Amino acid sequence: MRRNPTEAESVLWNFLSDNKMGAHFRRQHPVYGYIPDFISLKDKLIIEVDGGYHLEGEQPEVDAERTKYLNEEGFIVLRFTNEEVLCNIDNVLEEIESCLDTSQHSNLPSRSGGAGGGCQIGFRIGMGYDVHQLVEGRDLWMGGIKLEHTMGLLGHSDADVLIHAICDAILGAANMRDIGYHFPDTSAETEGMDSKIILKKTIELIATKGYHLVNIDATICAEKPKMNPHIPAMQQCMAQVIGCDPDQVSIKATTTEKLGFTGRQEGISAYAVALIEK
Ligand SMILES: [Zn+2]
Repeated sequence: MRRNPTEAESVLWNFLSDNKMGAHFRRQHPVYGYIPDFISLKDKLIIEVDGGYHLEGEQPEVDAERTKYLNEEGFIVLRFTNEEVLCNIDNVLEEIESCLDTSQHSNLPSRSGGAGGGCQIGFRIGMGYDVHQLVEGRDLWMGGIKLEHTMGLLGHSDADVLIHAICDAILGAANMRDIGYHFPDTSAETEGMDSKIILKKTIELIATKGYHLVNIDATICAEKPKMNPHIPAMQQCMAQVIGCDPDQVSIKATTTEKLGFTGRQEGISAYAVALIEK
């Protein structure tokens, strides 16, 4: 029978169990037939504390041989003494992190505590809101498709209020300002622009920070025309532009019970939230 965790093992496990390494403590290794102190199969990392000589008669020579074999199989094997873990946990965690970094992983939580580790959080949420005025003599674009209506939305681009709210939500989630910042309404380049291009560029912008979209939930506020019959087409269209599944793009529509500027059909507004992941 294995002994109970030592104090050093417990200290280290407190750090490793609470992260995204998928580390296990003393779980039978499914391939190599021995029980390491800590293993993350995802990161191909094995950590032994205090030598790791657990089996009766196990010798450093056998251990060195096995380590060599594990290295050849792509595993990183780290060893720490009890003293290193108990007296210098920062160094120990730094060494583990540097191993994860070299294999493009940086999944350990920040030990400095609190929100300081924000850059290591995989998910981020953002919200967006937009309004455009309804006028005669303009096309009505909504969610990337043209709707039949007696009026259209006024704006420098095609004034697709739904896509604009969604882009602001996505940019907000990545903390990358807003669409006015990236696509100024004073620029000739954006005049009459198809908002699907703005959406595509927004997805490319967040990709520069390593993010992709998880899902969108949006609400259009309009008295007329009826939006519901067109929602599947909007979902399909935007999913195609983003390169995601239509199921990741939820669109809802509501009136404001004839109240306010939307109720008086002076304009249309849209709200959106977006979740992104690194
Ligand atoms: Zn807009």
